Amino acid sequence: MSVTAPGRQAELRARAEDLFPGGVNSPVRAFRSVGRAPLVLDAGAGPRVRDADGAWYLDYISSWGPAILGHGHPAVIEAVRAAALDGFALGATSPREVELGERIRAAMPSMERLRFTSSGTEAVMSAIRLARGATGRELIVKFAGGYHGHGDSLLVEAGSGLATLAMPGSAGVTAAAARDTVVLPYNDPVAVARAFEAHPDRIAAIIVEPVAANVGVVPPAPGFLDTLRELTAINGALLIFDEVITGFRLAKGGAQERYGVRPDLTTLGKIIGGGMPVGAYGGRADLMHRVAPEGPVYQAGTLSGHPLTMAAGVATLDLLTPEVYAQLETTGAALEAGLREAAAEAGRRDVSINRVGSLLTVFFRAEAPRDGAQALSADRDAYARFFGSMLDQGILLAPSQFEAWFIGAAHGEPEVSETVAAARTAFAA
Ligand SMILES: *Cc1c(COP(=O)(O)O)cnc(C)c1O
Repeated sequence: MSVTAPGRQAELRARAEDLFPGGVNSPVRAFRSVGRAPLVLDAGAGPRVRDADGAWYLDYISSWGPAILGHGHPAVIEAVRAAALDGFALGATSPREVELGERIRAAMPSMERLRFTSSGTEAVMSAIRLARGATGRELIVKFAGGYHGHGDSLLVEAGSGLATLAMPGSAGVTAAAARDTVVLPYNDPVAVARAFEAHPDRIAAIIVEPVAANVGVVPPAPGFLDTLRELTAINGALLIFDEVITGFRLAKGGAQERYGVRPDLTTLGKIIGGGMPVGAYGGRADLMHRVAPEGPVYQAGTLSGHPLTMAAGVATLDLLTPEVYAQLETTGAALEAGLREAAAEAGRRDVSINRVGSLLTVFFRAEAPRDGAQALSADRDAYARFFGSMLDQGILLAPSQFEAWFIGAAHGEPEVSETVAAARTAFAA
């Protein structure tokens, strides 16, 4: 780490704190739960990011998921540059929307038709509205610790940013919105069956992160997603996979390909925008047919399908070859093995790891969590110490116990070794 301009970061941070709540434009960027001042980052290249004082870090935040190719991939930059020269958003359908839409459908055949939005939150809100409009029912089932963006009805026991701040939910969400949301424990099929018994003909949809990744990573128990598929079908409810994180990360076809379960609706974001603001929702043609202007479910967006976003998305998806997914798996496995060894060497019995492909969380908890409540019982103070030691050694993890480490194609063997060496020190400290 070379420090070239000491003081610039502190100065920018002070100005940001004067402008933005907590000094940030999204709460997860604050470092409150790890007891540090939030970083101001001004550049990224490959697997690394640079702070405003000129220090570089090996990055596992990866823009919170999108940066699967690393930062500033030349092909993505070139695609965005070319799109920009065509004049930004023109307020009509553009060729690049068609190109990205077709690529998404080819990778994820359950998305027979789709629509782009400007964020994952919007995609989820729209899918929920569609599910209610299509079924004529009001209740939505979600799982504790599942994060589905900051729409009112889903900000209940929503993991991630809220959990980091130890907030049960958000002020400003009406009791009515909260009442329409049924929260169940993740990986508990009996609770799902009981919910259908308790609310006959009232549940519009179950929304689930097929691999929970917003309380740290918690994989689905074998058969859990299949059970959700069966129970929703039997009870006339829809199954929504929120693949904003897992889409194009766990496989080209997302978690639905990896686990072989076909949802009725899917929400996407993050990777499909190649680092630009994006979301998408889609699914069964008969359902999407109900979206305006074809049908009565209204949803819109001035900058939806923005050409620069679409260009970045197309370039990114085109680089996500089977070889890349094989490499992500190898890198993920190597990192997991190295971290386990480092923890064992340090005699840490209070550490467990959950990993699915290129998503990994080191939990400060003896047993790997199987649901949101278990994940939330991990030791935040121990994580804060680990985080601080890793940061001091130039490794940037998410500033929260309840987030995934995002491994990308730019993370190779040298980066894994560097990380494991730092973890040895951090676990011992
Ligand atoms: C990030 C995320 C969202 C929200 O996406 P934004 O683009 O931040 O609005 C929704 N669902 C999941 C699973 C996410 O991880």
